[in-house]
Amino acid sequence: MKTLIRFLLQNIPRKYLQRVAIAGSRLMVPFLKGHQIECPVCGKHFRKLLPYGYVISRKNALCPHCLSLERHRLIWLFLKRETPFFTQPCQVLHLAPEYCFMKYFSAVQGEGYITADLESPWAKVKMNVEEIPFPENHFDVILCNHLLEHVEDDRKALRELFRVLKPGGWALLQSPVDANREKTYEDRAITSPEEREKHFGQKDHLRAYGKDYTDRLREAGFTVNPLDYVAILGEDLQKRYALPQNELIYYAEKK
Ligand SMILES: [Zn+2]
Repeated sequence: MKTLIRFLLQNIPRKYLQRVAIAGSRLMVPFLKGHQIECPVCGKHFRKLLPYGYVISRKNALCPHCLSLERHRLIWLFLKRETPFFTQPCQVLHLAPEYCFMKYFSAVQGEGYITADLESPWAKVKMNVEEIPFPENHFDVILCNHLLEHVEDDRKALRELFRVLKPGGWALLQSPVDANREKTYEDRAITSPEEREKHFGQKDHLRAYGKDYTDRLREAGFTVNPLDYVAILGEDLQKRYALPQNELIYYAEKK
């Protein structure tokens, strides 16, 4: 199973991956019934979740019902418990929208919920995050989850995100950050998928962020302090919801 999932992840183009994943993972639901793990996104319970990972397969990662991963469950819990996202109508820009969130976010925010991506078949607006086709001070909330490591000029993208956010607005700007790295590692000469995987951990990653990721967000104008929300939730909930071990929350405000 692990090998099959890794093969599919590495060989099916990203834009088709979710369709294939939805069909395949739903077939597994009857075999994973149980009560040990709860997916906070879809509310279903399982004995265990599916393994998932491009290079190293992680156990208990993918919800077979809604396709949430560890980081999605963490974001969901943060939004639900720490922000008014689910109770207050607002203008939302959701970049590189994840399938597991869209149905729920759209139901809550209605017309104010805009999904955007360069190639995803799910997105309402086709756009490059380096040139966002919206006026300044337009959105109350921006959700940008694991996208910036794929973007050519991430600093430009961050300036664009800051521009279209309203003063008083906030953004969740999640990226994979290597806590063992002080400085972000990037090299424009590394362009082949194989070399990118070797240097940055995935075939379509253009850099490996280090602890200075926060500085990059601040450079664009955001006020941000990384939050170890998994530690705040505690070990019992980390296991219950199968949350990531190493992901901090980057709640970035435009003050
Ligand atoms: Zn789920």
